Amino acid sequence: MNDLTQAYKIVLEQIEHACHIAQRDVDEVQLLAVSKTHPSEMLKTMYDMGQRAFGENYLQEALDKIEQLQDLDIEWHFIGHVQRNKTKHLAEKFAWVHGVDRLMIAERLSSQRTVAQVPLNICLQVNIDNQDSKDGCQPSEVEELVQHISQLPHLKLRGLMVIPAPNNTQAFVDAKQLFEQVKLQHAHPEDWDTLSMGMSGDMQAAIAAGSTMVRVGTALFGARDYSKL
Ligand SMILES: *Cc1c(COP(=O)(O)O)cnc(C)c1O
Repeated sequence: MNDLTQAYKIVLEQIEHACHIAQRDVDEVQLLAVSKTHPSEMLKTMYDMGQRAFGENYLQEALDKIEQLQDLDIEWHFIGHVQRNKTKHLAEKFAWVHGVDRLMIAERLSSQRTVAQVPLNICLQVNIDNQDSKDGCQPSEVEELVQHISQLPHLKLRGLMVIPAPNNTQAFVDAKQLFEQVKLQHAHPEDWDTLSMGMSGDMQAAIAAGSTMVRVGTALFGARDYSKL
């Protein structure tokens, strides 16, 4: 068994274990394989093991991989910072965008999603633990953003995405509470089903707090080498 195969099995077991401890059904937590900086061949290997959802942060790198792997049935998630001038590619090429934190970005994504496509799945990124350097809207802005974004025609607003500072378990609990609280503002509350939180180092705490999607890179693919980008 090669490293990638083994790492994939270990991560799936860790998710299962975290669900067991939290007394949650393992089907409630989806694995998003975060593949930034890693070559298409590695994605293909993981695809052959059954993984379908992959997350990328850098648009050009992602577009290259989408092209190279176009024959595979991959669900592409964009988890990087969304720049205003990049929304067209995101709207056309991805199934999910996690880093939406302003109404204007959501409006552009909705108007640029082609009518022939299914709605673009969106998570609203929240700066849940008030970090200076991080993207994301403020928790106090979430209600109003949910109200407006949930009415946009070519989007499906699925939930929240957070990236708290390391070892901040309370931030996951706060995110879960906010997630439940703003559901009432949603124009289509049945679409509100995703809490995107937890990475390689804090999956278990995120799952304990109610994560429905963990975004895992390093634990699956190993350390990243940014010099090759
Ligand atoms: C890179 C990245 C991840 C994966 O982080 P690991 O610690 O490598 O698991 C998850 N979420 C986001 C938003 C990222 O940018």
